Amino acid sequence: MYDGIVQDLIDEFGRLPGIGPKSAQRIAFHILQTPSFDVSRLAQLLSELRERVRFCEICGNVSEQTQCSICRDPRRDRTFICVVEDAKDVSAIERTREFRGLYHVLGGSISPMAGIGPDDLRITQLMQRLADGTVVEVILATNPNLEGEATATYLSRLLRTLEISVTRLASGLPVGGDLEYADEVTLGRAFEGRRAV
Ligand SMILES: [Zn+2]
Repeated sequence: MYDGIVQDLIDEFGRLPGIGPKSAQRIAFHILQTPSFDVSRLAQLLSELRERVRFCEICGNVSEQTQCSICRDPRRDRTFICVVEDAKDVSAIERTREFRGLYHVLGGSISPMAGIGPDDLRITQLMQRLADGTVVEVILATNPNLEGEATATYLSRLLRTLEISVTRLASGLPVGGDLEYADEVTLGRAFEGRRAV
């Protein structure tokens, strides 16, 4: 335990996802002891994050404008929509450079345990996007775990009524894992080898 502000900061970092007490302490001391560390820039970014960053009105990705840079990009193929659980997955798939279509961020996955049902996800918005017939393929890229699979199954049944090809990323992704932690090569291959559901 440390006195006052040092301990407060360690406690605060320790509340962040994936940061244990040891890492929290290391970060706090790094900031304290590194003269070149730009504290004011970090403070400014943190305060601007919540003020300026919002979610794209079309796909739900993070954006500083009403529409994200992917939805605004005229070079993207509008006949493909890749459905992901959250914005971190968009960034993971973008890193593979395998996909040139658009995204749809659900905002989570179906999880009866956590009380999250289809109505809590951006599924209505997805159906609205598919209504005009532009999209020819929907790629279900939810996480390869129980909730992700349940969500993909739910969506594939729902989309069966439309004249759209529905595919799921190929296996090879670590089962039970999170898409965002898959390496680029594995994720890229899973994309190439996607199969109809
Ligand atoms: Zn967007």
